[in-house]
Amino acid sequence: MRGPSTPLRTHAYVLRLTPYAESDLIGQILTQDRGRISVVARGGRRSTKRGLVLLDYFLCLDLHLDYKNAGDLHAVREAALVEDHTALCSNLGSHLVASCCTELCLLAIQPEQPGERLFLLLRYLLRGLAAGQPSATSYLVFLAKLLKILGLGPPRDRCPGCGLGLTQGGVVHQGELWCSACVPLAQTQPVLDLASQTVLQTLFDRTPGQLRDEGLHTRPADPQLREALECLLLPHLSAPPKSLRQLREYLQRPR
Ligand SMILES: [Zn+2]
Repeated sequence: MRGPSTPLRTHAYVLRLTPYAESDLIGQILTQDRGRISVVARGGRRSTKRGLVLLDYFLCLDLHLDYKNAGDLHAVREAALVEDHTALCSNLGSHLVASCCTELCLLAIQPEQPGERLFLLLRYLLRGLAAGQPSATSYLVFLAKLLKILGLGPPRDRCPGCGLGLTQGGVVHQGELWCSACVPLAQTQPVLDLASQTVLQTLFDRTPGQLRDEGLHTRPADPQLREALECLLLPHLSAPPKSLRQLREYLQRPR
């Protein structure tokens, strides 16, 4: 913990908070400038200490850190609120999507890996949810954009097994799209038909602003596409996301 440090000021989102010792908080945070890093907020659980009480989920924070070496635990000196997205918590669906996407950010990148695009994506999602954008569609857009940031898509248009062109869609298996002959159909493997594949391509190609202009943000989210995107993403995460089950249950409920 000891050693020289340099001051670092950056905008950040909390990805995971863990109570530590009597009154401290350890946070995994996604910063705009240094990607995912670990911080400690001394006295962060005492509401009497001004500033540090702000270390919480769904807030864009302006943090002053004592930055040590990459991989170290950096101390939070000051935390100021930049943007509060907690209005999203008043809607169950938005809250579940925000929680799950926050966890996906944590599991998608390694500590100290650059994460500015991911930071901007998370901010975009939280802003939209707080403004009342439909949660299921916001989640779909987030998944597609996350896959793109991670360099995982869009899926190839040829089966990796036999090289056949996937003009009729394909089966998602081990994070890729295959023809149905190479992967026997099973319930656990979502099928991506041609229509879903076209929507997916649009999600990859357009900026969030363009998607909004084209009305894609308010179109009902395609459950088949959502499942396919999750299956493309999950093999590339460092662990299975714990919050996904609850979100799936919510999204599968009839409305
Ligand atoms: Zn094949």
